[in-house]
Amino acid sequence: MNIPFVSFEPMHKEIENELLHKFKEVYEKNWFIHGEEVEQFEKEFAEFCGSHYCIGCGNGLDALYLILRGYDIGPGDEVIIPSNTYIATALAVSYVGAKPIFVEPDLLTYNINPCLIEKAITQNTKAIIAVHLYGQPADMDEINQIAKKNDLKVIEDAAQAHGSLYNGKRVGSLGDASGFSFYPGKNLGALGDAGAVVTNDKELAAKIRAVANYGSDQKYHHIYKGTNSRLDELQAAFLRIKLKNLDNWNDERRKIAQKYLRGITNPTIEKPSEAEFAKHVWHLFVVRTEKRDEFTKYLNQHGIAITIHYPIPMHLQGAYKELAIKEGTLPLAEKISHEVISLPMWYGISDKEINYVIETINNWR
Ligand SMILES: *Cc1c(COP(=O)(O)O)cnc(C)c1O
Repeated sequence: MNIPFVSFEPMHKEIENELLHKFKEVYEKNWFIHGEEVEQFEKEFAEFCGSHYCIGCGNGLDALYLILRGYDIGPGDEVIIPSNTYIATALAVSYVGAKPIFVEPDLLTYNINPCLIEKAITQNTKAIIAVHLYGQPADMDEINQIAKKNDLKVIEDAAQAHGSLYNGKRVGSLGDASGFSFYPGKNLGALGDAGAVVTNDKELAAKIRAVANYGSDQKYHHIYKGTNSRLDELQAAFLRIKLKNLDNWNDERRKIAQKYLRGITNPTIEKPSEAEFAKHVWHLFVVRTEKRDEFTKYLNQHGIAITIHYPIPMHLQGAYKELAIKEGTLPLAEKISHEVISLPMWYGISDKEINYVIETINNWR
C-alpha cells in the first residue's frame, strides 16, 4: 500500500463545486485586490479566533514580520523564540533587524519551556514569540505572566494551529498579536500563499494595515516605508469556504491522532501527547525514535511517506552562522532534530490506511 504524507484530494473533493463557483464569481467581478472577499474573510477569521481585528497579508512570514514592525521592534532589540520551530519564526525577527534568542522546548509538548524564558531576558528583550508547534498551543498563561512582569509583548506564531484551544480559548486570542500562515498544507490552507495577522490591539491593526499596503493609510499617502504584502480576493474567497469546514476537519484530525495514539504500541517509538490545557489540532503527528534513519527507510520500503519537522535546528543552519552558537548549546532542539519523524496526517485518510501505518510501525524492530 502507498500512503502519501499529505493529500488534499478528499478535502478539496468535498468543496470542489463551491471552489469552482467562487472562482467564476471573483473572475467575473474583475476585482482582485482589497475587495469584498478579503473584507469578509478578515471579519470571519477574527470572529473565529475570538479577536477584534484581522489583517490579511501575503504569507505567514510576513504576518510575523508585520507584527514586529508594528511594535517598532528593530536593531538592538532581542526577541525570544523557541529553539525548536520552523525557521520563519527566526527570519521574521532577523528581517526587522532584531536578534532572535533561542529558548529550549519542553520535551513532552515540543513547545517553548516557560521555566527557561526568564533566564533569557535582558534589558534589550522586547517580545516573546510563542509558537504553537505541530498544532498544540504553547503554555500561554505562564508566558503571558512572564511577559507582563517584564513588560514584553507576546506574539503567537499560530501558523500550525488554526482552531486549536488553550483552556477553551482559541489561539489567535491569547497574546498581543498573532501571525497565521495559510500555506496550502496548513490546517487552514489557501490554494497558494496567504497569511494574516489577528489582534485585539486597534492601533497595531491600523499600522499593520498601512505597512502591508506600501505604508499607505489612504491612497497615495505613505506614512511608513511600507511593504507589499496583501491577501488577494481569490485566496480570501477560497479561505472563506474552507473556514466553514475547519472545525470539522480538525475534529477528523483529532480522531486520526487518537487512532494512532491507541494503535501504536511499539515501545521504541515515543508518541506525542496532548497537554491538559490543550485542544490539539494535529497539524502534524510527530513521533520520535533514536533510530530514525533505519525507521524512515523501513517505512519508505513499506510505501509510507514521512517528513521530518525539522532536521536541522535553526542555530545550526548556515543562515545563522553569524550567531556562532556551537553544536551542543541547545541540546534539546538538537536531540529533537535527530529523532523526530512526522507520520501521514491529513483529512480523509482512511481507516484502512491508518491501520496499515499502525501495523507497519508495530512490526518494526
Ligand atoms: C508555515 C510556518 C510559517 C510561515 O508561513 P509561510 O506562509 O510559509 O510564510 C511560520 N511559522 C511556522 C511555525 C510555520 O509552520
